[in-house]
Order: sequence, then C-alpha cells, then structure tokens
Amino acid sequence: EADAQTQEQVERNRSSHVSKSCSVSYANSGALQMQRGEGSRLFDINGIGYLDTRNNVAHVGHSHPKVAQAVAFQVQLLNTNTRYLHPNSSLLAKKLADLLPSPLEVVFFVNSGSEANDLALRLARAYKCSQSADERLKKQHVISVDHAYHGHTLAVLDVSPYKHHQGDEMTCPGHVKIVSCPDLYRGEHSLPINANNDTDDALVEDAASKYAAHVEAACDEITSSGNSVSAFIIEGGMSVAGVILPPKSYLKTCIEAVHTSGGLYIADEVQTGFGRLGKCMWAFQHSMGGNDSDICPDIVTVGKPFGNGMPLAAVITTRQIASSFESLGVEYFNTFGGNPVCCAAGLAMLDVLSSEGLQNNALTVGSYLQQRFCQLQSRQELIGDIRGCGLFLGIELVKDKITKEPATVETSFICSILKEKYHVLTSVDGFHENVIVIKPPMCFSKADAEEFVSCFEKVLVEDLPAASERLAQMKRTPT
Ligand code: PMP
Repeated sequence: EADAQTQEQVERNRSSHVSKSCSVSYANSGALQMQRGEGSRLFDINGIGYLDTRNNVAHVGHSHPKVAQAVAFQVQLLNTNTRYLHPNSSLLAKKLADLLPSPLEVVFFVNSGSEANDLALRLARAYKCSQSADERLKKQHVISVDHAYHGHTLAVLDVSPYKHHQGDEMTCPGHVKIVSCPDLYRGEHSLPINANNDTDDALVEDAASKYAAHVEAACDEITSSGNSVSAFIIEGGMSVAGVILPPKSYLKTCIEAVHTSGGLYIADEVQTGFGRLGKCMWAFQHSMGGNDSDICPDIVTVGKPFGNGMPLAAVITTRQIASSFESLGVEYFNTFGGNPVCCAAGLAMLDVLSSEGLQNNALTVGSYLQQRFCQLQSRQELIGDIRGCGLFLGIELVKDKITKEPATVETSFICSILKEKYHVLTSVDGFHENVIVIKPPMCFSKADAEEFVSCFEKVLVEDLPAASERLAQMKRTPT
C-alpha cells in the first residue's frame, strides 16, 4: 500500500498527521522523496541520483549489500527484546571495546545518540554520588560547549546550548555551565586573519590555553559555590557549531581541570566516531595527532553511523564507573537497545569499514577535497575558511575575508542550487548558518569529490552572480 502512494498523497498525509516540528530538508525549495540508496548516492522517486555529501548515518554507504544481507538474515531468524543471551550483542560489545583505549571496556547498548548521552550523564551522576555522602547532597553541574548539540531528551537538551534559545522553548538551566566554543576562525580567541592554523603553533597553543581557561574557570566557579562538577561533555569535532576541531592541547588541559574537580569527561562521538576523521578512529584522539595514550575519556557515546542506518547506539565506560552504577542496585533495561537485528547491522558495518579500508579512504579523499577547496578559495572571495579532517570538513562562507561577515543567505542559496540544478545534497550549520558541513558516507570517492567541487565552483561563478533577484528575495524572507 505504501509503495502505491503518490508523492501528493505522501505530502498530504504528512502535513495532516505529522507534527510540523519534525522538519524535512529543502522544505522551501521542494522536499525530496527518496526511493533507494547506493554508495554515496540517493535516488528519488523519479530516478534522479543525488550525490550525498551530508549523510553520516549510512557510514559505509547507502544500502550496503553486506549490511542489508546481515540485517535480512537476522530479522528472518529472530528479533526480540534484549532479555536473552545473543552472540551478536556480546560480540559487538567486545569489538566496540577493542576499538577504544583499554580502560573503556563496559558497553551499554541503546537506540539513539540522545539516549546514549542521556545515559552518559546518568552514569556520571551515579559515579559522583558513589564517592561520598557529602557528594550526594551537592548539586551536580555539567559543563558544555556553546552551540553544542547532544540530543533531544530533556536531560540532554539541558546540555545542548544550540537548542537553548530556539523558539523560546527554554534557556540555559542552572546546573549547566556553558563555555566558549574553541573556534580558531571566529571565536573570542580566534587567530589573526593571516595566521596559518597548521604552522602558527605558538598562536594555536595560546588560543587553546585561553579557551581551556574557560573550562578551568567553570570548574572553579562550580566548586567554590559548594556544588559538584559531574561532567564535561564535548564532541571531539563539533558538527553543529560548524566543524570545530578543538585545538591541540585544549582537550588535555580541560580534562585535567575537570578531573581535578572530580568530574568526568564524556566524549560525544555520535557524529565523528568510527574513523570519519581518517587519521584516527575517534575524534577525541585527533588533537593529539591520533595518539590515544594522551587522552582517554571516562565515557564515550556513539550512535548515528554505528548501525549504518539501523537504530543502534552505545555508551562505553570504565569498569569503575559501570560498577558505581551497578552498586546503586539499578536494573538498566532497554527494550530495543542492542537487539539481534541492530547488532547484526553494527557487526556488518564494522566488518565493511575494515575490509574496504574506509578510514583510510576518508583520509585520502578528505585531504584531496580539502586541497581542491583550498584552490577554489584562492579564486573566490566567498570562501573564508576551510577546516576539518578526513571526511569531516567545514567550508565557512563570508562576504568579506577581512571582516568575516557571514554569508548566510548566500550559503542557503548555494545549498538550494546544488540540490536543484546539480543534484548534490549538502548541509548547513555553524553559529551563523554559513558553514557547509561535509560528512558523506565513508565510501565517498575521489570522483565524487571532484564532482562536488566542480559543481560548487559553477554555483559560485555562474549561478550566484546571476541570482541577485532571488538573493534579494531570500534576504527579505529569511529561511
Ligand atoms: N550527539 C550529537 C553530536 C549529534 O549530532 C546528535 C544528532 N544530531 C545527537 C547526539 C543525538 O543523536 P540522535 O538524533 O540519534 O538522538
């Protein structure tokens, strides 16, 4: 019956029965109805193929046959709640723990990134409460970074400043301290315009310590007011903030301060995990050049790419933290979290990631893409900054390279034209909605990269100059 629905019926049923709060992409320029996926491409109901530069869920590629077969096999055999022993979940827990630094050995399976971060906060609170009777009486505070997003449950919304002012739903709650986003391009301790992020080590070091000082100050403020630092939650590469990779030594200094105050470091790897940055399996390893011996989170959360599209996420922590939760006597039951079918998808995703060398592909293709955008930047005033690593890149668009005035409307226009005329899907994020965030399936090829950059250049050179009327209209009615 669903297959026989026309697009008109699909849109009518959706607009009558699905909340308007659940947004779809390209709502203003024609929402897409996708029918199938393959590798780095999605095909709509008219058979038009779209190059996908934004889908970090189909990690090893859309509808990868090995993942599809593993899921189909398992769903025909058994899917059930998680109250029974099953080799899929046990093996996946082991494989996941093996990918992380050794103290991280205990896994909780859940269904989404939000659930994972929610549970991570709960574990941190349990750990603090297990320390002493005195700790139990204190108010537990969490430190989070400006413009971060960690999910949609009430507890994680509290630590998601990106959502604090949206629609006046709420403002920052009292138990959350927001610190500056360590942005070297635009933030309060940004580098001078002509500094080179890679070579000006001293400048980067200085900015890193100034940003980390905000976390040190937050810890002091919390403890000196008689409260307790429960956790510092941060992504190793901040996506919604517009691909901000914390500068070298930032995380290390922050973690030292948080640990000194007795708090835990939660690494949110929901977007960035499983090799996306190419150099390392996890983004928290990036700032130390991929050397995981220097930084070890107390809790790591993973999601989106883990099940290659199946709802699979997890929290991984140390034996000590897990034990403090267990000692509370809580039964943690999650009906679907880590069921045999989703775990089959997770096992297949990990297999393909390794057998097809996709982490290395992310590094090679990502470096190539970055280099091609750098060439374009030298010819195009609009490209202010290019940053990131592997297949996690941000292109920040500005009206003027000196003032860095955000080119918000132009960015929105570029995304619309890329989709309408060139059939390329992109996403926009950042404090000013002026950063094109690139996080495609990890099988994104050099040819895909070439296609993307050449379409992008055509938009800048041909479509943008010819569209002054449409841009003026967009400025009058901001999206
Ligand atoms: N953490 C991060 C960094 C995210 O980007 C997201 C989702 N965009 C989440 C957590 C929440 O994940 P989910 O939508 O699967 O609940």
